[in-house]
Amino acid sequence: MARRLCLARALLFNGIRIRPSLPVYLADGTFRLAIFSGFAHARRNHVPSLAGSDMSPSLDYDVVIVGGGPIGLSTAYHCAKAGQSVLVLERFCFFNQSGSSNDLVRMFRTMYTEDFLADLAYEARNRWHELERDSAEQLILMSGLLNFGDVKYRSGPEGNLTDPIKNLERLKLPYRMLRAEEVMREYPFRDLPSDYAGIFAPDNGCINVPLVLRTLFRLAQGYGAKLVPHVRVLELRPDNDGVSLTMDTGERQTVRARRCILACGAYSNEVLSSVGLRLKLDIWEMVYEYYATDPGPSGCYFPSMWFQFAEPTGGDPAKSNLFYGFPHVPWVPPNLVRIAVDNAVNVISDPTERKIVPAENDLAITAQFVSEHCRGVDARPNYCGSCLQTEVQDNLFVLDHLPPSAGDGCQNVFVFVGGWAFKFVPLFGQILKELAITGSSHTDISRFTITRPGILVDPRVLAKTSAVAQEKVFSRRTH
Ligand SMILES: Cc1cc2nc3c(=O)[nH]c(=O)nc-3n(C[C@H](O)[C@H](O)[C@H](O)COP(=O)(O)OP(=O)(O)OC[C@H]3O[C@@H](n4cnc5c(N)ncnc54)[C@H](O)[C@@H]3O)c2cc1C
Repeated sequence: MARRLCLARALLFNGIRIRPSLPVYLADGTFRLAIFSGFAHARRNHVPSLAGSDMSPSLDYDVVIVGGGPIGLSTAYHCAKAGQSVLVLERFCFFNQSGSSNDLVRMFRTMYTEDFLADLAYEARNRWHELERDSAEQLILMSGLLNFGDVKYRSGPEGNLTDPIKNLERLKLPYRMLRAEEVMREYPFRDLPSDYAGIFAPDNGCINVPLVLRTLFRLAQGYGAKLVPHVRVLELRPDNDGVSLTMDTGERQTVRARRCILACGAYSNEVLSSVGLRLKLDIWEMVYEYYATDPGPSGCYFPSMWFQFAEPTGGDPAKSNLFYGFPHVPWVPPNLVRIAVDNAVNVISDPTERKIVPAENDLAITAQFVSEHCRGVDARPNYCGSCLQTEVQDNLFVLDHLPPSAGDGCQNVFVFVGGWAFKFVPLFGQILKELAITGSSHTDISRFTITRPGILVDPRVLAKTSAVAQEKVFSRRTH
């Protein structure tokens, strides 16, 4: 008790407000009192305001993070907690609908075909527990995940049905096999092919997206990071001592940092062009949908997340049969479940090409799946939207410093982009913190280099296309 009082006094002395709260139950089965839920700015890490005279070019931060999505916020949280002075610049508002992190839920899953991704997800599980303890929030609802479908399905963006079994066994994660009739008895599915199989693994769960974003924002700010919306970074100029960033704050201004993290998602190429680089990005304009379900004790009930693996109808990629869904979760309106297709017919290379309106094809095939195979679910979605999924050529991530071709100081700028990264948010934030502070990470990220084949546009092609683009701008101006 005496120790607790001393701790409370020490925290108050450092400007941290203590607010007693109710116990919060966490994903690992433990609970704690949410006594630190109201961080005020910690004094030890005073970061000057971006307003007025503080905006001089000599202003120095340890780390400037470009992009205030979950990866940027998680990096800010980890860096600020480690005592770094941190600035996060976000071109839109925080928690915006313009990147990859709108909507309400994401899957945390350990069922991976690739060993190294299964290992990474296993490691991420521990980082989520740490984040839940530090924030006293439950960020993942561990509903489990049922993968089911055609055992002969070869592979897609989420691997296939049976290959994850070897990883579940290797990592000693529990799972249970189901026959098609058991899938239809335990879940509100009907008329599935009788040779379908299912694998249920409990160590998978629904990530509460809005809560994660707000929690990371609150913690980063609480540990002293400065988070500034509506500032677009235009250019980077790395050098041997750090990096200068030019930004649009209504006027062109410059800020300097020892290290810079680019976590710009689909918009990465805009900033990278200032150091002569372009990533080959496929940006999927993915559709998410919420369907109404029959209410009541004998109504429709999905006990866990689920994912169907099956080849596209007639081999046509636009008629994908990769569907997935979530159970009812308390932060989604009652009697609504999210069901969607794990595919997108609108694939773009730049967010400016975004259609915004959800693709009719993707809505139609999902509604058809629902009406043919789900019991107690309306055949038309209640509401829907679209969200940008950014893919590099091998469906993995880029997690690396700039390549040597970017010139002096390339080691001072780190890039994160690509892949299905929400489940890795606390882990990738920690890795980027290690990179920002020491230049290397304890986690093996050698598969995510920016220089691996197929990731960057060849500089000769880039030179040619920028010459053509310049020519177009010039001719537009002169006509
Ligand atoms: C429909 C859908 C379903 C998904 N499902 C899953 C899933 O189940 N599990 C999973 O693990 N992952 C999933 N993902 C992927 C996951 O959501 C993303 O990997 C993750 O949200 C990426 O976060 P981010 O911080 O990298 O990017 P973003 O959230 O896009 O953040 C980037 C931020 O950078 C800002 N920015 C860009 N350029 C600049 C600039 N020049 N200056 C300042 N700010 C800038 C943007 O405004 C944006 O806010 C899904 C994605 C989609 C679209």
